[in-house]
Formats: sequence, C-alpha cells, structure tokens
Amino acid sequence: MKPLRHLVLVLGDQLDANASALQDFDPQQDLLWMAEVAEESTHVWSSRQRTTVFLSAMRHFAQQLRERGLPLHYTVLDDPANTGTLAGELSRSLQLYQPQSLLMTAPGDWRVLQALRGVASAHGLPLEIRDDTHFFSTVRDFDRHAQGRKQLRLEYFYRELRQRTGILMQDGKPVGGQWNYDVENRGSFGKTGPGALPAPTRFAPDDITREVIALVQTRFATHPGSLDSFGWPVTREQALLALDAFIAQRLPQFGQYQDALWEGEVWLYHSHLSCALNLKLLDPREVCSAAEAAWQSGHAPLAAVEGFIRQILGWREYVRGIYWTQMPGYLERNAMNATAPLPDFYWTGDTDMACLRDAILQTLQHGYAHHIQRLMVTGLYALLTGVDPKQLHQWYLAVYVDAVEWVELPNTLGMSQYADGGLMASKPYIATGKYIARMSNHCQGCRYNPDLSSGPDACPFTVHYWAYLRRHQATLARNPRMALQVKNLQRRDAQALSPVSPR
Ligand SMILES: Cc1cc2nc3c(=O)[nH]c(=O)nc-3n(C[C@H](O)[C@H](O)[C@H](O)COP(=O)(O)OP(=O)(O)OC[C@H]3O[C@@H](n4cnc5c(N)ncnc54)[C@H](O)[C@@H]3O)c2cc1C
Ligand code: SF4
Repeated sequence: MKPLRHLVLVLGDQLDANASALQDFDPQQDLLWMAEVAEESTHVWSSRQRTTVFLSAMRHFAQQLRERGLPLHYTVLDDPANTGTLAGELSRSLQLYQPQSLLMTAPGDWRVLQALRGVASAHGLPLEIRDDTHFFSTVRDFDRHAQGRKQLRLEYFYRELRQRTGILMQDGKPVGGQWNYDVENRGSFGKTGPGALPAPTRFAPDDITREVIALVQTRFATHPGSLDSFGWPVTREQALLALDAFIAQRLPQFGQYQDALWEGEVWLYHSHLSCALNLKLLDPREVCSAAEAAWQSGHAPLAAVEGFIRQILGWREYVRGIYWTQMPGYLERNAMNATAPLPDFYWTGDTDMACLRDAILQTLQHGYAHHIQRLMVTGLYALLTGVDPKQLHQWYLAVYVDAVEWVELPNTLGMSQYADGGLMASKPYIATGKYIARMSNHCQGCRYNPDLSSGPDACPFTVHYWAYLRRHQATLARNPRMALQVKNLQRRDAQALSPVSPR
C-alpha cells in the first residue's frame, strides 16, 4: 500500500466541499478525517440544539463525501474507543495511518488550533494550515487595516470590503449615494404589532438527524435546552432553500424591523442563516449576491439590502478579524472589572422580567435569538449588573446553534460587554427599560414598570442603568459619546440631593 500523503482534517464547522484544504485532494494518496468528540459539547455546557446541529450536519456531510467516493475516516461519538477529545482522536488516527503530513483549513477556534498543533508537534509531523477562503477577507487583510489604529470600527473595514468586492458599488461609489442606511433600519412594530409574519423555513428531521437527536438526548441528558422543535438546515441543499425563502419572504422587511422585538415571536424578519453560514453550508458570496440581486430586480429596497449585506460583508468579517488578531489575550479582557456570577435564570428562563424570560426561553427551545435580543436584552442585563464577561461568554457559546468562538467572543466581550475597553465599540451599549418598551411589547405584560427607577415595581434594567452609570462615572465621563448620559446622571443626583423647595 502507498504511504499516506496528507491526513486532511475537516472540523465540524468546515462542511464545505470547496474548502481550501480539499482543493488538491487526491483520493489515491490522501485521507479525509472527521471526528465527533464529547469535549466540543462539554468545554462549555453546550445546549442540545447546538450539539445536534453540529453532529447532524457533520454526518450529512460525511455521507456526501462517501457518496462521491472520497476516502474518509469518521469517528462517531458513541464509538467505545472514542477518547472524547480532538487531540486524543487525532493521536489515535496518526498511529493508525502514519501520514506524512497533516493539512487543514484554518479553524474557527483558538483552543482547537492549539490542541491540533500540539498533536502535530508531539508526533513530529508538519501541519499545513490554509487560509479559510470561505471569508471575503483574510486575517492578514484585517491586520493590515488595524495597523496604527487605536480603535477598530466596523464602518471603515466594511467600506474597504465594499470597494474591494464591488458589492453595492457603482463607478467606485456606493449605490444610492450612501454607505449606510442605519437610520432607516430602526423601526418598531408600533402598538398593533407585526401582524401576519411569514412562516419560518424549518426542516423535519430525517433518519440521520433523528439518530443524532436520540444520541444527544441520552449522552447529554442534563445539558440545557430542548429538542422538541429541531428544524435547522443540516445540509447545503436545505441551507439553499432557507436562503431562497428568506430572500423571497423576509428580506424586503428585514431592514425596517431589524431591531424590533415582539413577545412570543421568535423569527420575525431575520434570515436565520447564521448557523448554515458558520457551518460553511452556505458561502457568504452567494448570500450577498442573492440579496443584491433582490434589490436590482426591485424586489427589496436598498435600505433592507444594504442593512443585511452589512451584517455579513461587514460585521461577520470584522469580528473574525478582531478575534484572530486579539487572541489569546482577548478572552481574558475585563475592562469594567465585572465579577458578578451569571444569574441561574439564564439557564432556565425562570424570571419575572418579561423581556429576559422571552429571549431566554426561545433560546433554550430553538437555540436562536436575534441580534437585539442578544445585545439589548440578555447582553444588556449582564452588562448593567456587572456579570463576569467570561461567564457570559461561556453562556453565549453554549446556547446558540450558530455559536463558534471566532464570532461569538468579540460580539460578547467587545460589542455587548465593553470588556475590551472600547477596542470594538465606541461606547457601552447601555439603556434603561424604556428602550425595550419602545422596541417591543414586553413591558405591557411585565410586573415591572420601565419608567420607574425605584420602588418595588421599578424595572431592573432602569434601576441598574443608573447604578452602572454611577459606578463607572469617572471612566465614562472621559468618553465624549457618553457625555450626555453622564450629565443626565449628574443632574439626577443633584436633584435628589437638593432640599425640597417650599411651596
Ligand atoms: C452577545 C452576542 C453574541 C453573538 N453570538 C453570535 C454567535 O455565536 N454566532 C453568530 O453567528 N452570531 C452571533 N452574534 C451576532 C448576531 O446576533 C447573530 O449573527 C444573528 O442574531 C443570527 O441570526 P440571523 O441569522 O437571523 O441573523 P440576521 O439578522 O438575519 O443577519 C444576517 C447575518 O449576518 C451575520 N451577522 C449579523 N450580525 C452579526 C454580528 N454582530 N457578528 C457577526 N455576524 C453577524 C450573521 O451571519 C447573520 O446570519 C452575537 C451577537 C451578540 C450581541
Ligand atoms: S419592564 Fe423592564 S424587565 Fe419588564 S419587560 Fe420591560 S424592560 Fe423588561
């Protein structure tokens, strides 16, 4: 038998037949390698939805590789010999196959990269890591962009990428004359609510998914969340159907209602494509092209299309750049010295605060919440109450089906918690309960009142907002973007101290 040239590693979030590591794959000399390991579900207390989506998508991808006649080594989670870690499984395979070298597409997680590098070096084997061509930009592009900048703002990197890709550009200028239509994209549903919403695109579990569900229910019985309503796309074909349905049914309203919330409404006008994108079942280029074509054909307004494309061409690329240029130190950052434990109700939804209860319960049920639920409900409460950012990071990484560290960590630590001291966000995203009252109907069914900051009915968000400002007044006063909020606090405190004027 010919000696094995490359053992080509394919991780659970690299399910793309065109991935860079597979480019010159030679079935005569190379072997593909995939492994299901318990560690990926236990290093954080991964929800059952999240584990199921990864394992089911991996098994479907493996099936397609085999159907194409490609040689593949695949370890299942319940293999009695499974060591439970990627490093352990790789070591076992190296002894078995004795390859000349290891090859992979760059992983999405610093921890995994270190573990695999460790195995390669322990076995004295070269490990070739190729750029992940799934993304529009490389980490080197971001690094170049970041040189000499104290703060790394999305807008400038996004404009660079618009120019480089030509997406929504004409003659070197942004179409419509503006880079950004954010101001048009902040609507709420008003008093009457969203009305009839398009049904979400969900997929009934097939045999493979049902088998994974049974395995996860037994193996991770105590892990958070439920699997009663599992319906995520787990193949490329399903992901493409989900993309088509989003473009046809939701994109036109995406922008306008991007920030809106409504009790019991999980899906609204969002795309629900993050999981398929992060597993690499979808290419961001095809997603952005489909959105751009919808504008060109007059199906969707420019504000909606630009708003959507900015999330993918802008935010998604930008947070990846932040992650890989800032790790491993980024994980330890805690600029606001937040040390409170994560409240237990984040794992159960058992709280009287209606907005938090709604966001957490749908998260546990579906492994999904949209951006404003993550940023301005679960994230905001943790920020205002000073929750340790690392504990919060572990929660976000555990509960969402789209959670991979390169995208989750900067969103949590940087954008939501200001734990990087302003590297990513120009100010902490803080607000009282009145913001939630304006953007949703949650407060109408809540035992608290968003207008009150003291007394038994005071909204905890409003109470903690003022406490947060007071606690961090000295630091925040130095930030011009916080000047108004700090001044309001000082005015409030001065009024509270001044003697009651005689009538
Ligand atoms: C605290 C916190 C944690 C987050 N953790 C994750 C995570 O683990 N994985 C993840 O993919 N996103 C994460 N996000 C970003 C965002 O909330 C999700 O991408 C989005 O809610 C997914 O739902 P959707 O597919 O319906 O998105 P849509 O609203 O339809 O947006 C379209 C696409 O844009 C991309 N996108 C949107 N916002 C962001 C963003 N801020 N950063 C990167 N990509 C973005 C996603 O790929 C998404 O599918 C997090 C945000 C916050 C505030
Ligand atoms: S009153 Fe406060 S806690 Fe209740 S739903 Fe509104 S913002 Fe949330």
